Amino acid sequence: MSGSKCTRLAGPLVKQLLESVDTVLFDCDGVIWRGDQAIPGASQVINLLKERGKKVFFVTNNSTKTRKMYAEKMSAMGFNVTENEVFGTAYCCAAYLKTICKLEGKVYLVGSPAMRHELEAVGIQQTGVGPDHVSGKPIDWANVPLDPDVKAVVVGFDEHFSYTKLNRALQYLLQKDCLFVGTNRDTRLPLEGGKAVPGTGCLLQAVETAAQRQAQTVGKPNHFMFDCLAAQFGVERERCLMVGDRLDTDIMLGSNCGLKTLLTLTGVSTVAEAQKHQESGCAERQGMVPDYYVESIADLLPALQG
Ligand code: PLP
Ligand code: CA
Repeated sequence: MSGSKCTRLAGPLVKQLLESVDTVLFDCDGVIWRGDQAIPGASQVINLLKERGKKVFFVTNNSTKTRKMYAEKMSAMGFNVTENEVFGTAYCCAAYLKTICKLEGKVYLVGSPAMRHELEAVGIQQTGVGPDHVSGKPIDWANVPLDPDVKAVVVGFDEHFSYTKLNRALQYLLQKDCLFVGTNRDTRLPLEGGKAVPGTGCLLQAVETAAQRQAQTVGKPNHFMFDCLAAQFGVERERCLMVGDRLDTDIMLGSNCGLKTLLTLTGVSTVAEAQKHQESGCAERQGMVPDYYVESIADLLPALQG
């Protein structure tokens, strides 16, 4: 089987693949947009898939936006989308704490206002969002004031991340019954022109290192995001396609969940990397080999228009 993987999706194969699926999951950054720029042809592809009766969902590890914010961003870019079709880590993390952890109590949040919003939407209160300053000199780091109602530390993307927050997270996590959840482990966020900024994985690893504990992560490649949407929409795995630009998150998620996988080359990963995984002979790395690849999701357009 592995010999037939990582096939360029072109010609009659496109129609064949699309006919074999009812549901298509799209990663966002690097697949349907790059930063604030839509990938040319992406909105036509999404809208035509829906017109052809396919269920379409968006699955992103970016925890800085609520479902509503994503739906607004996509609508402005011309995508026909509603917020319940968007599964971001801010929303999924709140759902995870509520439905899987059955959290009773507050969250110490190292994260964004969007995460606070999604937590509050499921009835979970938080402390921690925004800049953190401890007062008093000299600072007694091991005895900073803690909220006794906090029962979980949650780490997402936080532009106000600091030593103060890292220390406070550690003080909560020293309590053995305190849950520890992260949104995702993307270590780097690539930008145009070879630039990059640190991703949530860096912040999460700092907290893990301090606490000497491993967080449970909700985002891709963990199957929870798929479970979350499958539970709500009844998706049949064998007839579902995951489209992504990253082998270690998107393609691995698809493999973990038994979905068909398509790598698009408008983002992070390359075909050469996929082939290296394939040729490594390492069983674990086969999950990072996509079934198919395209230059851009616009390559699906002719088959949808025809
Ligand atoms: N996390 C953050 C904070 C981001 O800004 C991004 C991309 O912009 C990601 C994660 C990766 O998002 P995606 O899963 O849509 O590629
Ligand atoms: Ca991506």
